[in-house]
Amino acid sequence: MSTIAELKELLAQPRQIFITTHHKPDADALGSSLGLAGYLRKKGHHVTVVTPSDYPDFLAWMPGNEGVVVYDPRRNDAQVRAIINEAEVLFCLDFSCLNRISELGEYVRAAAGTKVLVDHHQEPEDFAQLDFSNPKAAATAELIFEIIRDLGDQDLIDTGIGECLYAGIMTDTGSFRHPSTSRNVHLIIAELLSAGINLSDVHRRIYDSHSEERLRFLGFVLKDKLTVLREYNTAYIAITADELRQYHSKTGDTEGLVNFALSIEGIVFAAILIDRKQAIKISFRSVGGFSVSEFSRRHFSGGGHHNAAGGISHEPLDKTVTRFLELLPEYQSQLVAAPLAAAHPAA
Ligand code: 5GP
Ligand code: MN
Repeated sequence: MSTIAELKELLAQPRQIFITTHHKPDADALGSSLGLAGYLRKKGHHVTVVTPSDYPDFLAWMPGNEGVVVYDPRRNDAQVRAIINEAEVLFCLDFSCLNRISELGEYVRAAAGTKVLVDHHQEPEDFAQLDFSNPKAAATAELIFEIIRDLGDQDLIDTGIGECLYAGIMTDTGSFRHPSTSRNVHLIIAELLSAGINLSDVHRRIYDSHSEERLRFLGFVLKDKLTVLREYNTAYIAITADELRQYHSKTGDTEGLVNFALSIEGIVFAAILIDRKQAIKISFRSVGGFSVSEFSRRHFSGGGHHNAAGGISHEPLDKTVTRFLELLPEYQSQLVAAPLAAAHPAA
């Protein structure tokens, strides 16, 4: 863990700053990035936010969204490499290993500027000179708030920056219900309210702005695609590429589906396996003692948090599902015994 004094010194003069976050940014990833960018611009720095991929439309309201450079290897590789190489400071937000930012990972690794990691995932990779990694934090946005406050600049958190940070904390805590929702989280929200944020507007923009088609897709998934395995207290959903096409699924349309599987009484482990073009993307969620980050790290080249993690498979969807099912007997005793009260913070 680095000190605020080190960061203060690094930012003591106007800098060329690059901010990036993980592949397919969620509200914490983008909210942390744009909240930090808004603050750093107020301090006179030149800031560019680059995302390794596109992100859902329901995040486009965030102030600063219009200036985000979305990396596309076929379209702007040279431009993004130049931004990375010219950066004096590179902020890496809401991811713990460089393989989470696809091609950008190697560019960032090779960059000459000072790298600053701000993150709350488990097992961070050691690639940054300054490291503000704290797996106990509920969200990266919580850490960004604390960094700005500890730099003595809380008064620079205006409504726009505050709403970006609020979005990150609200979503990563599952709207303040996960065990990671600490007293500290609520105190920070109280400060953000003093900065004028509108909680219900943020909630509505993120959770109540879906297309009709997305809702019908949800209906189809819950009716036809959900499998419940009572003997393992497990439920999973597997979605084919054809089904995504049929419902014109857009980035963000599958977000949160896995939580429906976990909402069934008695279910402690849920998974969604989705056939994306390049690979099968998997999301895992759990309640209680069963660690999905460990499961994902061990079997699906992934990671994340104790109760929320993701991973990947390069086998076809049916083979991936079979492999997933074949793993369950090994974990049966844990899944059946898993106490509901989680001992670990989740996000
Ligand atoms: P989600 O399932 O919503 O994509 O991700 C759940 C959590 O796991 C997030 O904190 C996310 O950053 C992390 N995560 C998702 N996919 C991966 C992955 O492939 N590798 C690692 N290390 N973490 C992941
Ligand atoms: Mn996060």
